[in-house]
Amino acid sequence: MKIKKVNSKNRHKIINKSKRTERNRSANKHKQENMSTQQFATKALHSGHDTTQNGGTRAVPIYQSTAYVFNNSDHASNLFSLAEPGNIYTRINNPTNDILEQRLASLEGGIAAVVTASGTSAIATTLLTLLRAGDHIVASNSLYGGTYNLLNVTLPRLGITTTFVDPAEENSFTDAVQENTRAVFIESLGNPKLDVLDIEKISAQAKANKIPLIVDNTIATPYLLNPIKHGANIVIHSLTKYINGNGTALGGAIIDAGTFDWTNGKFPEFTEPSAGYHGLIYSEALEEAAFIAKVRIEGLRDFGSALSPFNAFQIIQGLETLPIRIKQHSQNALELATWLQTQEAVAWVNYPGLETSNYKALAEKYLPKGQSGIVTFGIKAGFEAAKRIADETKVFSLLANIGDTKSLIIHPASTTHQQLTEAQQVSTGVTQDLIRLSVGLEDVEDLKADLQTVFEKITAGIPAS
Ligand SMILES: *Cc1c(COP(=O)(O)O)cnc(C)c1O
Repeated sequence: MKIKKVNSKNRHKIINKSKRTERNRSANKHKQENMSTQQFATKALHSGHDTTQNGGTRAVPIYQSTAYVFNNSDHASNLFSLAEPGNIYTRINNPTNDILEQRLASLEGGIAAVVTASGTSAIATTLLTLLRAGDHIVASNSLYGGTYNLLNVTLPRLGITTTFVDPAEENSFTDAVQENTRAVFIESLGNPKLDVLDIEKISAQAKANKIPLIVDNTIATPYLLNPIKHGANIVIHSLTKYINGNGTALGGAIIDAGTFDWTNGKFPEFTEPSAGYHGLIYSEALEEAAFIAKVRIEGLRDFGSALSPFNAFQIIQGLETLPIRIKQHSQNALELATWLQTQEAVAWVNYPGLETSNYKALAEKYLPKGQSGIVTFGIKAGFEAAKRIADETKVFSLLANIGDTKSLIIHPASTTHQQLTEAQQVSTGVTQDLIRLSVGLEDVEDLKADLQTVFEKITAGIPAS
């Protein structure tokens, strides 16, 4: 069976089933009426979960099932052809994941979301859904190390190339656009450079060239910044970081603003019959949801980057407390960064909330509620001393992660960024003396004391233990 146009009721059910929930909600008007106008903290606790479904469970239940029973063969056939919405197989959709998807779409102001096994799989699935061999990406140069490698090494093997630009330079994105450019990719708050990007200016450049703007919003989180409000077309999250927040589960998300015009002549993936889905023309059948629908029904199907429902459950527990955690992470980070500036052993401190930061003005515009929990600083004594601080601090855990409730520390030049050349390290903001802190929720005085003990040994010339 070939579907020409998925009717608008079913369209939403296929991409996120959000309309179903809305209808059920209107049956419960007394409770759910103001859902869309609610504030962030309320949505973080309630969006997407209809307690009249799911046996009245107050917590979101874990649907730990691989597949779903069809009513009969016709029902199955309708589900496969998109004539009817519903669950088929957990690689494509799952009721626990669906609640997380609706909640994230609501918090970012998108029309729908797809959750994935990791932030990395969210990025890879997005780019592989959009692009084909011969296409080109323009990306900011201050990117997460894994993303940089995907764009710089792995995608070129498939014929997809990237030009990296300095996002702070006027018109740098436009200058790098080629005839075959099909995506602009940035991080709202670069990891670990901590540069705050001027999303509105970059969005204007992408828009003028009819190219979608993809924003990785992992470090800022939707509480501190909503890139869609500033012109982003697609938002990516590593849910592994602040959204889960406890360092217990990997996950990723792709959120579609529903604002990009896929019929502008540059995206045959969406306007020509899809050989991978019985001739479906996404832009006609799914209109504004063309991209996110293709991510689900072809991307998840073909690349298999599904999120485990158990991890979705863990991530939902974290998301419920994101607002209070990220406020405290931001407050602790600002206080620690301010204190670090007073320390003899410290050469420089980078935190976008500091008065001395190059990004202070942009932080005031894009991150007025707080600047998240990552702080970087340089140590006067250089590379070996920087490694020593990572080794000898005791409250900070030496590991490669960010966004945990516990404080974390790493020396990127010898670890996460060691595969890069020195020139690449510099362009991604990683200098030899740089230490990255992910400031947790401990009492900030204990964090200062932990660092100070090592600073004093270095300053006094006491050899490493
Ligand atoms: C960690 C991270 C990723 C990758 O996410 P995983 O869940 O570890 O795959 C992508 N972008 C940013 C900014 C990150 O910090």
